[in-house]
Amino acid sequence: MRVGVPKEIKNHEYRVGLTPTSVAELVNHGHTVIMESNAGAGIDFLDEDYVAVGAQIVETAKEVFAESDMIVKVKEPQPEEIAMLEPRHTLYTYLHLAADKPQTEGLMKSGATCIAYETVTSPAGTLPLLKPMSEVAGRMSVQVGAHYLEKEQGGRGVLLGGVPGVNPGKVVIFGGGVAGVNAAMMATGQRADVTIYDINPDRLAELDLHFGSTIKTQYASKRAIERAVREAHLVIGAVLVPGAAAPKLVTREMLSTMKRGAVMVDIAIDQGGCFETSRATTHDDPVYEVDGVIHYCVANMPGAVARTSTFALNNATLPHAIQIANKGPIQAMKDDPHLANGLNVSDGKVRHKAVADTFDDID
Ligand code: NAD
Repeated sequence: MRVGVPKEIKNHEYRVGLTPTSVAELVNHGHTVIMESNAGAGIDFLDEDYVAVGAQIVETAKEVFAESDMIVKVKEPQPEEIAMLEPRHTLYTYLHLAADKPQTEGLMKSGATCIAYETVTSPAGTLPLLKPMSEVAGRMSVQVGAHYLEKEQGGRGVLLGGVPGVNPGKVVIFGGGVAGVNAAMMATGQRADVTIYDINPDRLAELDLHFGSTIKTQYASKRAIERAVREAHLVIGAVLVPGAAAPKLVTREMLSTMKRGAVMVDIAIDQGGCFETSRATTHDDPVYEVDGVIHYCVANMPGAVARTSTFALNNATLPHAIQIANKGPIQAMKDDPHLANGLNVSDGKVRHKAVADTFDDID
């Protein structure tokens, strides 16, 4: 198959769909890989690195789309990319359609087969292609939260770990999944006072076993959330209802009870956000303030550590990319129901139930 990789065009997005090592694997399987020039330059993967493993370099994204059957990306296609998609294309990338109706409609119109990383499943029922980015975002959330808690950044002036004789900062994490656990690992590493809230009792039990006395766990009832945000210095939103818009756990009303200069990091912003006052921001302008509370809502957090993220993403996406290229998308999905769960749009129709349920006015 002819596999194409355009340069990512979203604001401050330096990740790239395939590393030179991944390209080498595809070439070894007999495929042709077409890279847009400088697609990986932002993280020091140079055109000559790709040429050395057998890729062809073209100058424009237009040529990549025109010459390829399968497009491998990182972020959801932007309108100018959607305009280049045709029914013969298989698009393999993150889509996050539940939070983006115009994109959903654009992909339907394109007729392309669109496989979303974030809804591919594993036999254990997890989301293995979302996992590496959730690990990165979870770990980063504490780093950025600690940064914006500094007075110079507009924060409350609180050191998460405290010091001898002074209490540590209170970190509240909503959602004890992959991102939440990784946030908790970093926050406990900094000696913060950490509580994870989740609605899955089995998950709460696992967290309790895993972290022991270094964190507290609580069921995420409305009252518990109200109490938690009142006391918190750093609130991290890391909930997920797969394929659906994030539930709004922190309301506008609750915000007014929070400490001035507290920081909220809404990792779930790519699914619409789990705080009522969240709106997507970019690495250029990552924060804004509501009621004296700093909101960090960057939808592509891993883009900031693009080199680590690209390696981590490729570790997870490459095996399926090889199967799609070897067999074609239809046979590959027939053979692997977990890959088939990644199908979000094809032949002009939404194919993923949670996405379809979100937009009941389109079919
Ligand atoms: P996950 O499935 O591993 O964990 C989600 C957890 O949320 C689960 O434990 C679930 O029980 C819990 N949950 C669901 N509804 C809840 C509720 N109402 N209250 C409390 N807990 C609830 O998911 P994940 O991989 O950790 O991803 C978390 C979020 O981070 C997702 O929205 C994902 O898209 C997002 N994400 C964002 C970025 C970014 O750059 N902003 C990067 C990676 C992942």
